[in-house]
Amino acid sequence: MIVMKFGGTSVQDANAIARAAAIVKGRLAEKPVVVVSAMAKVTDQLLIMARAAGAGDRKTAIELSRGLRERHYMTAGELLGTGVFTSFHSELEANFEALDELLRGIAAVGELTPRTTDHVAAYGEILSSKIVAAAFSSKGLGAALVDSRECIVTDNAHMRAVPLFDETNQRLRTKVQPLVAAGKVPVMGGFIGATKAGVTTTIGRGGSDYSAAIVGAGLDAARIEIWTDVDGMLTTDPNICPDARRIKLISFDEAAELAYFGAKVLHPATVLPAIQKNIPVYVRNSRNPDCEGTRIEARVPHCRNFFKAIAAKKRITIIDVAAPRMLLAHGFLRSIFEAFDHHRVAVDVVSTSEVSVSLTVDSNESIPALAADLAKLADVKYEGRKAIVCLVGENLRETPGIAARVFGELSDTKIRMISQGASEINLTFVIEEDDVPGVIQRLHKAFFSDLDPEVFA
Ligand code: ADP
Ligand code: ASP
Ligand code: MG
Repeated sequence: MIVMKFGGTSVQDANAIARAAAIVKGRLAEKPVVVVSAMAKVTDQLLIMARAAGAGDRKTAIELSRGLRERHYMTAGELLGTGVFTSFHSELEANFEALDELLRGIAAVGELTPRTTDHVAAYGEILSSKIVAAAFSSKGLGAALVDSRECIVTDNAHMRAVPLFDETNQRLRTKVQPLVAAGKVPVMGGFIGATKAGVTTTIGRGGSDYSAAIVGAGLDAARIEIWTDVDGMLTTDPNICPDARRIKLISFDEAAELAYFGAKVLHPATVLPAIQKNIPVYVRNSRNPDCEGTRIEARVPHCRNFFKAIAAKKRITIIDVAAPRMLLAHGFLRSIFEAFDHHRVAVDVVSTSEVSVSLTVDSNESIPALAADLAKLADVKYEGRKAIVCLVGENLRETPGIAARVFGELSDTKIRMISQGASEINLTFVIEEDDVPGVIQRLHKAFFSDLDPEVFA
């Protein structure tokens, strides 16, 4: 069997869902399990509604929900035709009534917790999976809707819940496997799950890719296909460099680094379950299904180019911790990291000198409290609006002089931190956020103009 995941733009309206159906139809012999995102922008809108309700603004929340209702009805109506839609309508109606009731409840209390946020956010995938399953069935695909909350079991860290694999794999085997064996096409929402007690959770923004990988690993899929709106993983973000080129073949390690450092096309956690089971992952374009896309797998042939791709991760804060009097005394680093751990703030890049440590974190609201704790240990400064730029390629391991070439290109750019990742396949540095487009464009021109045709399209 295979897993096919369709992202938000690939199910954004009736036409997109019809394209997805045609793609799935072409693969029925391979026994697909389909994972879908919420329709494009829906998760953003649900979160806006939830926050409006949390601020006591019931009117705005309900109005936004009405817009969402119209869009889903229109899509379902177009796909199903009036006959089927009439019976399906009441099912969607019940979901929207429940959503509105939830929003009214949040507005009445005037407080939005991570747990209620998950209840609201989950509607995107609950609704899209219903519509996609109904549309697939009406097109003769024999779809079976599976509620992901009955399969993907997570801890209770709401909004960034972590899957419990043993439990999840067992549920996938009992609830999804038999449908596949019976020749059905299971359709599940990505991004959502539930705790063992059945409380709805979500696994982090962009998490439907991860859901696909969890399902693929749990059911020993022959491959996982991530269907999106670009031809595959590209040499850089096409919004910054419209001439970015498709990478035909990339290793799990390289793809993981790229995803982690900002290549939004793939959620960073996606490759982990695939690595563990050595399941190849493909990134494909649902608007251009004839294009081969990108294949991600354990071993890839040698590439003539230094790098496979450049990514940038914005909204980064640098935290400088300086211990002027005691130098970096024994135990100092440990106490610093304990503070990060206590505030549940993850560190990306670290550099140390004899008397100070600089660390980067995603900008977030925990930073002031973290800085206050760190200030008990040493002098602390922090500064936001930074970005991490990451160049990735297996060749970094063995080719000397690459860093000199990179920084030679950027001799007039203010570079704050440099790290050649412990993985040996990334070269990472921190710059001002505003410098990102210029820096990426220059590096892309310098390193991706003449490409190895075996690896790049
Ligand atoms: P989906 O909704 O299908 O999950 P996403 O919006 O999450 O799609 O990811 C696809 C988008 O990622 C592309 O439209 C592109 O703008 C962006 N992107 C950023 N970096 C890259 C890259 N290196 N290769 C391909 N796409 C990238
Ligand atoms: N719908 C979710 C989001 O927008 C998950 C996803 O699309 O991957 O974050
Ligand atoms: Mg995505």
